Amino acid sequence: MRVYADNAATTAVSQTALAAMLPCFQEIYGNPSSLHSPGQRAAEKLAEAREIFARRLNAEPREITFTSGGSEADNQALRSAAALGARKGKKHIVSTKFEHHAILHTLDALAKEGFEVTLLDIPPDGVVTAEQVKAAIRPDTCLVTVMFANNEIGTIQPIIEIGEVCREAGVIFHTDAVQAAGHLPIDVQAMHIDMLSLSAHKFHGPKGVGVLYARRGIPLVNVIYGGAQERGKRAGTENIPGICGGAAAFDEACANMEKNAAFLTPLRDKLIAGLTAIPHSILNGDAKRRLPGNVNVCFEGIEGESLLLLLDAKGIAASSGSACTSGSLDPSHVLLALGRPHEVAHGSLRLSLSEYNTAEEIDYILSVLPDIVSYLRDISPVWDELEQGRRPHLL
Ligand SMILES: *Cc1c(COP(=O)(O)O)cnc(C)c1O
Repeated sequence: MRVYADNAATTAVSQTALAAMLPCFQEIYGNPSSLHSPGQRAAEKLAEAREIFARRLNAEPREITFTSGGSEADNQALRSAAALGARKGKKHIVSTKFEHHAILHTLDALAKEGFEVTLLDIPPDGVVTAEQVKAAIRPDTCLVTVMFANNEIGTIQPIIEIGEVCREAGVIFHTDAVQAAGHLPIDVQAMHIDMLSLSAHKFHGPKGVGVLYARRGIPLVNVIYGGAQERGKRAGTENIPGICGGAAAFDEACANMEKNAAFLTPLRDKLIAGLTAIPHSILNGDAKRRLPGNVNVCFEGIEGESLLLLLDAKGIAASSGSACTSGSLDPSHVLLALGRPHEVAHGSLRLSLSEYNTAEEIDYILSVLPDIVSYLRDISPVWDELEQGRRPHLL
């Protein structure tokens, strides 16, 4: 059996998204900036896509900027809010320790440019509180950026409450909603979200397509300079096939959101119950306040990388930490922020489901995983020490 359980890393393009993209390659291939009819047909497609994203987020079309993905949207959001703050002499930014690297590394760059960054600690349940945000805001704070749902442990943050705190304090609130978009309800008005990033390939759209929502009145600064596309704020001929595919995927994901969550939640909970029944294991992040398809567990005494290779040999595609960090030997910054010791963080497994998974696949995962964990522990010198009592169990 082949099981793809790494949907937090990327997803398959849906039939609906693919169907929306295909005409844009050979029929509607004009440049939207051209004045002729083929160009104008492409411009209409672009306007339709912008309209779909705006409607589904409860925003206005002119508040939607297309980018090359979630990373670029995050970079542009942070740089824009920082530039606005600097003009008012406000150079303090509040964020969290478990953001995606697209946020954390942009904040590192801004810190080198003279901004001061406060990163909030992550409580044991993986949910930061609005009180933490409120306590961190200062008179010179220009931006709060807190992710909507974490990409590794799936925990969902109290976005409405954080939005309220920021609104009261008069601070711009950005949220990296890349994992939440298409999976959780988002209303930028009701949630007081000033800026938001999303990425099409996390909800069955194509890779290389992102959206930056910025509330009217918040000026964007360019990350990519050149032509006057995207109201002069993001240069480069628009990726019309990608944008149309992304919009179709978002429309579909939003329309099916409740149905998908109702299907995935019991599968997720069955996996969590089965995996945490393995001795010396622990679930990462709150059991309920998490994305419907996210499971993240640490097993003591094993290496996540070995686990992934053995799972792959059984046809199961999973992840340990995020795809970006699994190329390195550093344990996940998210699990460390959650308070997991290094040794424990190394033994992590993330299974992220989509509505394309089946109940049979979940049973298959549960039928092979306990044996793989036992096998890895049997050959591990560390596990030997733990079992002999020469080293204390941490889990
Ligand atoms: C995937 C992801 C990103 C990056 O999006 P890309 O489109 O791959 O650049 C940013 N933030 C989060 C939370 C993500 O999961």
